[in-house]
Amino acid sequence: MSQKWVYFFGDGKAEGEGSDKELLGGKGAGLAEMTNIGIPVPPGFTITTGACVEYYNNDRNYPDGLEGQMEKAMEDLEKSTGKKFGDDEFPLLVSVRSGARVSMPGMMDTVLNLGLNDVSVDGLAKSSNNKRFAYDSYRRFIQMFGDVVLGISHNKFEKILRQMKQDKNVEIDTQLDAEDLAKLVEEFKKVVSMETGNPFPQEPKEQLKLAVNAVFDSWNNQRAKTYRKIHKIPHEWGTGVNVQAMVFGNMGDDCGTGVAFTRNPSTGEKEFFGEFLINAQGEDVVAGIRTPEPIKDLQDRMPEAFQQLEEVYRKLENHYKDVQDIEFTIERNKLFMLQTRTGKRTAAAAVKIAVDMVEEGFIDKETAVLRVAPDQVDQLLHPMIDESTSYEAVAKGLPASPGAAVGKAVFNAEIAESMREKGEDVILVRNETSPEDIGGMHASKGILTATGGMTSHAAVVARGMGKCCVAGCGSLDIDEKAKQFSVAGHTVKEGDWITINGTTGEVIIDKVPLVEPTLSGEFAKILAWSDEFRTLGVRTNADTPKDSATARDFGAQGIGLCRTEHMFFEAERIDAVREMILASCEEGRRRALAKVKPFQKEDFLGIFKAMAGLPVTIRLLDPPLHEFIPHTDEDIQRVADASGLQFEELKRKASELHEFNPMLGHRGCRLGITYPEIYEMQCEAIFEAACELGAEGQTVVPEIMIPLVGHEKELSELREMVERVAEESFEKAGRKVEYLVGTMIELPRAALTADEVAAHADFFSFGTNDLTQTTLGVSRDDSGRFLPLYVDKGIYSDDPFVSIDQSGVGQLVEMGVQKGRSVKKDLKTGICGEHGGDPESINFCQKTGLDYVSCSPFRVPVARLSAAHAALKNK
Ligand code: ADP
Ligand code: MG
Ligand code: MG
Repeated sequence: MSQKWVYFFGDGKAEGEGSDKELLGGKGAGLAEMTNIGIPVPPGFTITTGACVEYYNNDRNYPDGLEGQMEKAMEDLEKSTGKKFGDDEFPLLVSVRSGARVSMPGMMDTVLNLGLNDVSVDGLAKSSNNKRFAYDSYRRFIQMFGDVVLGISHNKFEKILRQMKQDKNVEIDTQLDAEDLAKLVEEFKKVVSMETGNPFPQEPKEQLKLAVNAVFDSWNNQRAKTYRKIHKIPHEWGTGVNVQAMVFGNMGDDCGTGVAFTRNPSTGEKEFFGEFLINAQGEDVVAGIRTPEPIKDLQDRMPEAFQQLEEVYRKLENHYKDVQDIEFTIERNKLFMLQTRTGKRTAAAAVKIAVDMVEEGFIDKETAVLRVAPDQVDQLLHPMIDESTSYEAVAKGLPASPGAAVGKAVFNAEIAESMREKGEDVILVRNETSPEDIGGMHASKGILTATGGMTSHAAVVARGMGKCCVAGCGSLDIDEKAKQFSVAGHTVKEGDWITINGTTGEVIIDKVPLVEPTLSGEFAKILAWSDEFRTLGVRTNADTPKDSATARDFGAQGIGLCRTEHMFFEAERIDAVREMILASCEEGRRRALAKVKPFQKEDFLGIFKAMAGLPVTIRLLDPPLHEFIPHTDEDIQRVADASGLQFEELKRKASELHEFNPMLGHRGCRLGITYPEIYEMQCEAIFEAACELGAEGQTVVPEIMIPLVGHEKELSELREMVERVAEESFEKAGRKVEYLVGTMIELPRAALTADEVAAHADFFSFGTNDLTQTTLGVSRDDSGRFLPLYVDKGIYSDDPFVSIDQSGVGQLVEMGVQKGRSVKKDLKTGICGEHGGDPESINFCQKTGLDYVSCSPFRVPVARLSAAHAALKNK
């Protein structure tokens, strides 16, 4: 017997498991589940995602048994509805819909009213006693089928429709009567024969087969592929196909269709949220053709149906214990559900809903924490408009996705992408976005549309991407061809600066200053719960008192990496630093260093104070000397003036210091070995600052970190130096502080000999930026030329500088931890590369048994949440 490819649902029960999204796809699973819990769903059947996979394996042919199973399911559907597919008098019509395991909104297309032809359209007119409805359904069918299945641009149909409305002097589709629609059908059919050379297919069985194939094929259309790439969805999954009996929202004023969320997906507010249209079908609501009405008005318009809808949405939320995004159709006051899925939401909404649902007793804290995606909360840490600035909004649309964005107006997705590639900030301005725009939306800081509601394509996709969006800003007069819009007497052209506020819906023709956000009450709660579950510590990479304070406010438990080179670059110091580098003898260097030391000490005092007793890991000077060399004669002259040295002499010295490959050159602990006085000065500054605060009653435990160690002897020599300077400083200060000496593990040799290195280290901090560079043999600064292509081709599944290369670099980290701990059981280990704020990498750190991660201040909340996810997932 062949495999089961087709699963029926209807008459109160479904063959498939409502939880089996892998098999049925998300939409099919939702339809099955709703059927099983007694919610009114038109009957139908689902062709499995596996059938799609087999279709591709078989060179785009159906697997054995699929055809027969579809025929059988169609018979069951006829029995269930009492109608016949292909009947001339009383035809069964179906929708053919795609549905992958995870929802890919707008990525694959749906065909409605399939089964109609020139004969049965009149049958339908008679049996429904509604000719307008019959021809409305037929013209929709020809257009959708023409577009999705036959590949005819839908503009060709739209143009004719527009023309007809113009000729009849009407605004909207519903004002066209039966005769108009019948004429439209004739013209649409002409388009089809012109474009394809064949008449519109009249045989329903053939229509069905062509439509199913088109859904299978749409899995690999360009925009589906792009969406999968952006959202990291495997290309191997395939899509399910749902064939479902039609219910009709376009039969008159006691009919309609709508979409809704069980709670507000933008704010998380507990309120039923959505839109509907009377006498409409399918995607009219989201397509922005007519402006939909807010769902609360349905109560007055169709009280009976509204009551059914309220019962259903409450039941669904109770059942799924999460916010549902639902689609419904009302046919003659009777409600039918066509879709339910977990509602996509903004980060702010995700946080509020998770907290509310714990308080309502729906879910526990663990679930709440797991419901908030770490990648997503980054949104909450994004800039917003500075409330204290005054600005003038020229228009107001719907606040479709919160946050604010400043960028240059762009009217075309491709241009948005190319400008982004040049490093420009852009805002995509469109009448309405469509799935083809997905790449341009991704490239934009924010999205602004003139039509469409809160559930329009632009709004849904923007919320999913965490981008700010103002939708349905009707007062904008956008001319996409001329690349400009006008509003309230202003004209904005491509490249002009605008600001949009997705939290309020405002549009501003200006660059409005943005400010950094703070943690909201609910977000703080989720993070506090995260702290209960996580076992990894979270520290920050901070070099200034200001960053340190920000990070502490965000919950950092210490500094994992305080770089000291920034302190060297500052204006008042750089000359002294250059003098030090260019000095020809130790004495000259010491003289110059003495000028730098007071600044260093001030820096450390500020940071220690900001961190109020939390651990602070200070990395001694790391960058290549090369980076400090003065380049212009003017710079050299300044050093000459300050030091009394000869200009020519200095210039010669500067050119001698040139390095061919500074990243692998005179840097890191090599500086400490060759010019010990640099590190000595730094250590003195650290210990003096710590002792001074100690005298004031504040405990400071500095952790001194030696960079770029490759050989244990480098560390043993420098450790001796640190200990010596510590003793001297304590002697002078008349008091002691505790301190640690550790090293970065950022060269493969250090990882390979970690047991030897650990003998001299109190802690290891994996510097995964350099470790990635040195392991892959890829310079991060030069990787832009080829790495994006590597990621495109899947050679690396992610940029290895963003998400740690687990099988390569990760092995060295594991080895470092194991070997290190083999000689020192409780060697403290952490990570301080860019990866410390990346959720995937944090999960890796959890599995590897590190003690903490360290990341930039604004990533700290993301890291706390990620660490909780990692702990819960690896329990
Ligand atoms: P998407 O994946 O883009 O949401 P859907 O497959 O859900 O696409 O279908 C698009 C629209 O068609 C939806 O608004 C849905 O409500 C409507 N629709 C789908 N199937 C039927 C049906 N059997 N009867 C009436 N409307 C339908
Ligand atoms: Mg669609
Ligand atoms: Mg849908």
